[in-house]
Order: sequence, then C-alpha cells, then structure tokens
Amino acid sequence: MKAVVLSAFGEPEVLQYKDVARPEPGPDEVLVRIRCCGVCHLDLILRSGKRSRVTLPRILGHELAAEVVEAGSEVSGFAPGDLVASFNFQACGRCEDCRRGRPSLCRQTDGDIGQTRDGGYAEYAVLRAGNLVKLPPGMPLEHACFGACVYGPPYKAIRQVGRITAGQTVVITGASGGLGLAAIQIANRLGARSIAITSSPAKVAPLKAAGADEVIVSSDGAFGEEVRMLTGGRGVDLVVELLGSPTFHGSLRSLAPGGRCAVIGELHGTPIEINLGLLIIKEWELHGVQSASRDELEEILRFMHETGIEPVVWKTLPLSQAAEAHRELANREAIGRVLLVP
Ligand SMILES: [Zn+2]
Ligand SMILES: [Zn+2]
Repeated sequence: MKAVVLSAFGEPEVLQYKDVARPEPGPDEVLVRIRCCGVCHLDLILRSGKRSRVTLPRILGHELAAEVVEAGSEVSGFAPGDLVASFNFQACGRCEDCRRGRPSLCRQTDGDIGQTRDGGYAEYAVLRAGNLVKLPPGMPLEHACFGACVYGPPYKAIRQVGRITAGQTVVITGASGGLGLAAIQIANRLGARSIAITSSPAKVAPLKAAGADEVIVSSDGAFGEEVRMLTGGRGVDLVVELLGSPTFHGSLRSLAPGGRCAVIGELHGTPIEINLGLLIIKEWELHGVQSASRDELEEILRFMHETGIEPVVWKTLPLSQAAEAHRELANREAIGRVLLVP
C-alpha cells in the first residue's frame, strides 16, 4: 500500500510517500481503508520531533475516517463495509480515572493513533476496535474525521462545562483556528450568541461566515471592555479559551457573574495572576478541558450530522502531497483544516 512515512524528524520534506506492507489485524484489531485524514497542528509538532513519544518510523494522522475491511476474531460490533471515525487514543478502562468516567485523564492509554501506532496518512491502517466509532447513517466521511480532535474539546467545553443553552452568550478566543471555528458552529447550532476574538482583521469575514454573531479584532488581549459593551455591561456566560495566557485576562474581564471559563489551549506556558477575590465574589468557574471521550464522540458525530455542521476545510490534497499539506497548515493565512485523501 501507499503511505506517508516519517523516518526522521525535521521539516515537511521528511514525510516520504512510498510503498509499505499492508498491515494485518490482530484478534482485537480492525483493518480499515482510509477514506480521508485531517492534518492536525499536532502532526506538525510530532514531525518536528519536539514531542518524544513518537518512535520512528511512524505513519502520522489521527483525524481519520475509514471503511472497515476486516475485523479481528475477537472484535464484535464492526463488519466489513462499516464506515468509522477514529478516536485518538484508547483509555485503559481499568484505572481509577477510567472507572469514574474520566477517560481523558487515563495515564495508561494504549494505541495513540499517529503517535505510538500508525495512523491515517496511508491507504490502510490497523486500529484497535476501541479506537473506532461508527458514523451516523449518511454522514460524510470528510466531516466525521474531524469529530474527535477538532469538535471534541469545544463540544465538551460548551455543552458539559459551559452548560450553554439557547439565548446565552459565548466568547471564543483564537477563534479562526480549527477548534475556534468548531466552537462558533456548535454555539450557533445551540441557539447561543457567539463573540469571536481574533488578532487579524482579515479573519473577520470568514469568522462571520462561520456563524459568529460578533467579531472583535484585538491583538493585545484587552477585549474585555468591548465584550461588556456588547452584552449591556453584563458579560458572557462562557469563555472558550483557546489561546490561554495571552488572552486570559481579557477572558476573565468578559465573564458575567456565575460565568464559566473553559481553557482548552495554552500557547506559551506563561504563568498568570488571578485575583481570587473576584473569583469568589463572581462565583466564576474555571475549567481545564482536554478531550472528549470515545463515548462522547458518538454523541458529537450525531450532533454534527443532525445540526448540519460542516467543518471548514481550507484545502483537500492527495495523500502523496502530505508535505505540502504540512506547509499549508503552517501558513498563518490558512483558515480551517487541510484534508488528505488517499
Ligand atoms: Zn488533531
Ligand atoms: Zn485508564
């Protein structure tokens, strides 16, 4: 089969498109034919070698949607022809965190796709059945591939942490990235009002097109006053914080009493100061959000499909152009995701 193999860390050129042996599924594994695979910012970091978990050679790609070709002897629930999307990792199911329903905290994950096992930059992949979720009938694969990594964290932030309902207001920082656009779409479909924050005037129109009700251009993180003005002085019910320390003070300034702040991203790892007195008086809730769970992915895919959410795709490229896809995604002008198709 054809695959894009990472044999050395470095610039995009290290991604080699070549023939490799098609993998065989073990008893608890499923052989799938990849139909499309999203290119994630994480892939760029993994390719560069800045994360040590990846062992070489490795086939990257955790945002895949595929068709089942063959299920191992111990696999139940999947049959040839089933259309599936992948969940990035398989929680152990045995540790204390897994047992209390917090699989995103599991430290004994197995088979992190595109990191510790081969992923979707290939014609075929062998995955654990526990990594796969069936698509709702009729859902396009090029939408479903983004369910876990792109829609998972904002979905969890807005629905579980934010408890957002129709008529409430959400601020989204770093709004023009993949997760930001997803957050706008999710808030929009729930009937909430969204205020998108971006540092680039060129991103205003695409953010509006994605469904943002208001867009604030702010490059210094001091957007809180404008948010308060837009909300009659009250502030918002939830901030989806995708940038972290650069925008965090503006995010807190934007919050209404009783507001929630869901921190999904942190750009710099810079410590920040919080006035805990304000936290107490306003009864703000501050949450960290990592990822949704595999079970939640089924719910997310259903939600996306039923509400007609279409992921914003910047460019679709053939698998052979994976290196070009990495260059495209590194380009700061890009809005939305890059998709590889074998
Ligand atoms: Zn991803
Ligand atoms: Zn566990």
